[in-house]
Amino acid sequence: MSERVIPLIDQRLSALLPPVPRQPITADGLLHDQLGRPLRDLRISVTDRCNFRCSYCMPKEVFNKDYPYLPHSALLTFEEITRLTRQFIAHGVRKVRLTGGEPLLRKNLEILVEQLAKLQTLDGQPLDLTLTTNGSLLKRKAQVLKDAGLKRVTVSLDGLNDDVFRQMNDVDFPVADVLEGIEAARQVGLGPIKVNMVVKKGTNEDQILPMARHFRGTGIVLRFIEYMDVGATNGWRMDEVMPSRDVMQHIHQQMPLVPLEASAPGETAERWGYVGDDGQYDPSLGEVGFISSVTQAFCRDCNRARLSTEGKVYLCLFATQGYELRELLRGGANDETLSSAIGAIWQGRADRYSEIRALLPADQQQQSGRRIEMSYIGG
Ligand code: SAM
Ligand code: SF4
Ligand code: SF4
Repeated sequence: MSERVIPLIDQRLSALLPPVPRQPITADGLLHDQLGRPLRDLRISVTDRCNFRCSYCMPKEVFNKDYPYLPHSALLTFEEITRLTRQFIAHGVRKVRLTGGEPLLRKNLEILVEQLAKLQTLDGQPLDLTLTTNGSLLKRKAQVLKDAGLKRVTVSLDGLNDDVFRQMNDVDFPVADVLEGIEAARQVGLGPIKVNMVVKKGTNEDQILPMARHFRGTGIVLRFIEYMDVGATNGWRMDEVMPSRDVMQHIHQQMPLVPLEASAPGETAERWGYVGDDGQYDPSLGEVGFISSVTQAFCRDCNRARLSTEGKVYLCLFATQGYELRELLRGGANDETLSSAIGAIWQGRADRYSEIRALLPADQQQQSGRRIEMSYIGG
């Protein structure tokens, strides 16, 4: 077994200046990147802080009391986020996900939700506005978020066994409180709710079946995520990845599944439905999803940009550098300049990290790198 290497280089410090084209780039929703991919999905990280220390994301050894979190003045304000989001929407974004860190730690987040909920897509539809949370504060915040205009939530939950869960969040947080958060979200109508479970071999694969049984038939969609080599601090190893195919087979042996159609282009999860007594998909039993970022790259359809807590645009989860929009914003740029900069950034995009990694021989897939942390750009 190879040793864990945890490089301590702060990739946040390096940034690219956004290209500002001489001729404005018309924001007409027809923007495409170098691989012909449109811009449809924006993930916004509203804080780089979290109250959990999931070992695959913010391991305690690195994210300790000495870790240099961003100062408040570095964070985009809600008004700045909303202004930028408007420009992204003008280029075709339809879906916005608030994330982090733990987004519910950002004070008065509902004010941002309220501002974003008022925005409309190019075809006059309301934004698909959602949020990913560890659920710890959801019971307290569900109603106020719903009232502010949030549509739905995704809750991360890596197991039902309290010991396993406390060990995975590494701050001894009880599973019962997250389950109460999910219930609160369900009661106020923040659905359809999705639950994301990262499967880490040797840590929580015994939770796959209990999780599947627990959420089957509830209307809540459980999605299994392959443990990814994001960031540079989690000491990722390929032998800790449980391929989605194995997770699916494991469930299928106990609770038969059939494949379902993808719900939307660029949808990251492969969908499988539970089979009823007649051998056909039974919608009342619901479905599970598999996000196979490691074993089945989906770069070809990736239509997602990420806006970091301090206003850098990242074109890939595995990017090493982001484009600095905050300085442009705070330097007095008008909307046309901001929009053109976003357009030019997307037009230059050729990222397809997972696809390239999949082409490498197996022994070279475990790359070390100066990548940006997921808690900073948002998962
Ligand atoms: N704190 C919130 C949460 O946990 O839901 C939002 C931010 S978190 C970075 C977003 C998602 O990224 C979570 O579902 C989490 O499980 C996932 N994630 C973090 N590190 C990961 C890794 N190494 N591999 C796969 N998924 C990961
Ligand atoms: Fe926090 Fe989410 Fe990362 Fe866990 S996955 S440490 S809850 S940001
Ligand atoms: Fe998108 Fe990058 Fe992931 Fe490929 S590796 S699917 S380009 S975020």
